[in-house]
Amino acid sequence: MIAERVKTIQPSATLRISTLAKELAREGKDVVDMSVGEPDFVTPQHIMDAAVKAMKEGKVFYTPTKGIPELLEAIAEKLREENNIEVTPQNIIVTPGAKYAIFEAVMCTVDRGDEVILLDPSWVSYEACVLMARGKPIWVPHTNNFQDAPIEEYITRKTKMIIINTPSNPIGVVYPKEFIKKIRDIAVDNDILVLSDEIYEKIIFEGSHISIASLDGMDERTITINGFSKTYSMTGWRLGYAAAPEWIIKEMNKIQSHSVSHPTSFVQYAGVAALKGDQSFIKEMVSEFKKRRDMIVEKLKDLQIEFAPPKGAFYIFMDVGRDGTEFCEEFLSKEYVALTPGSAFGISFKTWVRVSYATSQSNIMKFLERFERFIQT
Ligand code: PMP
Repeated sequence: MIAERVKTIQPSATLRISTLAKELAREGKDVVDMSVGEPDFVTPQHIMDAAVKAMKEGKVFYTPTKGIPELLEAIAEKLREENNIEVTPQNIIVTPGAKYAIFEAVMCTVDRGDEVILLDPSWVSYEACVLMARGKPIWVPHTNNFQDAPIEEYITRKTKMIIINTPSNPIGVVYPKEFIKKIRDIAVDNDILVLSDEIYEKIIFEGSHISIASLDGMDERTITINGFSKTYSMTGWRLGYAAAPEWIIKEMNKIQSHSVSHPTSFVQYAGVAALKGDQSFIKEMVSEFKKRRDMIVEKLKDLQIEFAPPKGAFYIFMDVGRDGTEFCEEFLSKEYVALTPGSAFGISFKTWVRVSYATSQSNIMKFLERFERFIQT
């Protein structure tokens, strides 16, 4: 009775670990959850105020499907000024979270049998979206310490799209300009679309962010994804967006109009306040993330653990030298620390695990102490 499209996907592999973690916490255990992918800061006050103000002013009705004009304009301005992407509100759609923008984008461009390049490892939902569209995920390994990948060797007549994510979840790397340029050349030469997920663009400690859509010939073939969840610590608000050629936005708008209609009205007003208001929150958050990253990196170096260069986002991806799923289950049941197994993110990282440091420094101290004890026994 169940449609084939859903049979091909699995519930998120992180679910088992997080359910177990919650059970242990309910039993009163001192659980340190380093499996979550959301900043642990409260949304800045002026953004909350803007939502309340909008509500009080009666902004509680349906909005245009693509989003309110003020927000589309603010996003277009941000993309032009910060990302050098030449867009107008016609090129933008706001969605309930970046995740839904990715879903819509894949649904309206990928057909049955189309091949979509995913870099191994990648964020969990790309593969699921491709499978739901009945496309074929093609996993390409990273090379050169996660700074490059031989994408050109995997291009066929059926390649429709390349999905990239920098700074990256789960590896925490920031791709260098040469790699982004190489992807641009491959996409232009082979007439391929690029979906560029830039949700962590502001959380960078080393290197700088380049939007592939700003490179020559890319504005006509790039879907840039971004959102408010990470930059403004607004995960629960559900607000994201896509910028793309108008012909793609029109199709995404069709899906949106027949499914969720639009993101919540007053949340969109909060989005305007986020983009137009004081940005100092981001700097403070990033400096706190950097401190936490440094604490972990120092210890992992001491312990001679191999890990990907963590230059952005808030993840460290490391090799624990044994089955990652078993490691995570045992580490949680013995030391009460929840991590995510690398196998959730691709095909080659069975012995790796992802650490999210979106948690307090005191929790990180506990994690480091328990990790050292665990691997030495
Ligand atoms: N892309 C990546 C790489 C993510 O890590 C996440 C959140 N975990 C998302 C997209 C989705 O974000 P949102 O909350 O805006 O749906």
